[in-house]
Amino acid sequence: MELTADHKGGCACGAIRFSAEGEPVWAAYCHCSDCRQATGAPVTLWVGFRAAAIVWTGTPESRSGSSGDAKRQWCGRCGSPIGYLDASIPDNEIYLAIGAFDEPQRIAPKGHAFWSAKLPFVTFDDGLPRYETFSRARKAATN
Ligand SMILES: [Zn+2]
Ligand SMILES: [Zn+2]
Repeated sequence: MELTADHKGGCACGAIRFSAEGEPVWAAYCHCSDCRQATGAPVTLWVGFRAAAIVWTGTPESRSGSSGDAKRQWCGRCGSPIGYLDASIPDNEIYLAIGAFDEPQRIAPKGHAFWSAKLPFVTFDDGLPRYETFSRARKAATN
């Protein structure tokens, strides 16, 4: 399975590794305060793949986020942020942190999520679409 991986990465200590087949289905910066706290960075870039396209070595720790459908993943040994899942995103996508990729320069960002929460000293002149909240459509609430 390693042989067909188009993108690879993992945490800082190597306990968690992933191989992703194909190109990302979506990749967007997130400026929200939840991501800021979880990653420690002023903004992060989440790179989405279908969950079925990812092969894992090791099992990330995870916890549910502020919205019940969202879950964050990190390495339980070194603490590196790894991924973000949201059950309300259709098609079972997982979003991997840009910092976890072996070759992050090969990822092409496609937009900015939660532009409304962007810090004033973080500036972009990339011409990418800016979304006030989510950049990826969510399923309608089912409750
Ligand atoms: Zn680690
Ligand atoms: Zn966010």
